[in-house]
Amino acid sequence: MSAPDSKPKESQNEKQTVVVNAKKKQAKLCTGRETYERMNFLYQAATTMSTTHPQLAAYYGKLMKSVGKKAVLRMEPAIKRTLCVRCGVLLNPGITADVQDYRHKKLCYLQVNCTLCGFSKRFYNTKNHRLWMDNPKSIVERMEFA
Ligand SMILES: [Zn+2]
Repeated sequence: MSAPDSKPKESQNEKQTVVVNAKKKQAKLCTGRETYERMNFLYQAATTMSTTHPQLAAYYGKLMKSVGKKAVLRMEPAIKRTLCVRCGVLLNPGITADVQDYRHKKLCYLQVNCTLCGFSKRFYNTKNHRLWMDNPKSIVERMEFA
């Protein structure tokens, strides 16, 4: 009587081990997942604090940068460009940043001035200039995590 009962238990155990192995593989694929989650949280905190407490937003932004730097993880340029290079505050146009658009015959750029520390950054916008991340060839593999 005990022999037929033991077979389904073994199959359940096998299924559980397969599920556990799949979870381990999934965890292996996304390196630095916890760090990315922490950076995401800090970015959201910086976003909410940028309107009311810019100093606190600068602290969160700088902490997010240093966390990413220590774990050797890259930020997407679109997110990286919203943070001030010097003080790390979230550059919110009209609140923590002044945005000026320069258009000349040969040179076009967007100048973003940080109102907290006074640092200015130029993003050149010529006709042939294109970010590598905007190019579809830059995507090698798309992974989805549950
Ligand atoms: Zn700044």
